[in-house]
Amino acid sequence: MPKQREDCLFCQIAREGAYVHKAKGFVAINDINPQAPVHVLVIPEGHVDTFRAVGEFDAKESKRMLEFVAETAEKVGLTDYRVLVNVGPTAGQTVFHLHWHILGGGNDASEVPSAVATAEAER
Ligand code: 5GP
Ligand code: ZN
Repeated sequence: MPKQREDCLFCQIAREGAYVHKAKGFVAINDINPQAPVHVLVIPEGHVDTFRAVGEFDAKESKRMLEFVAETAEKVGLTDYRVLVNVGPTAGQTVFHLHWHILGGGNDASEVPSAVATAEAER
């Protein structure tokens, strides 16, 4: 698992946040500014700046991270949902610690923004 960074908001949240789900190496929290009826962020405890550096997780950690995304969605009661990662500022990334958005909980797809809409809303 990559190392934590002292000066990073999501490293701090991974240590002491209000979790909706937690397992070894990973936490999930509610997004402070939800873009869908349910909007959860999955955050690995180890710090990498972006998804581009996902190779810093070993094969087992990467598999666990994906499983943890699916487990978190199930735990918050979602069967249908969108998973998205913004990679870089022009794609809407604002926090530079890898995180996975889980968006869902509406009655139909119109309540769950597309990746493009999410990126544009962040600008
Ligand atoms: P990004 O734009 O980098 O893909 O996603 C960052 C997300 O983190 C945004 O949806 C934003 O609302 C959320 N966020 C930023 N700061 C905090 C915080 O302090 N607590 C929580 N729970 N969410 C945050
Ligand atoms: Zn971090």
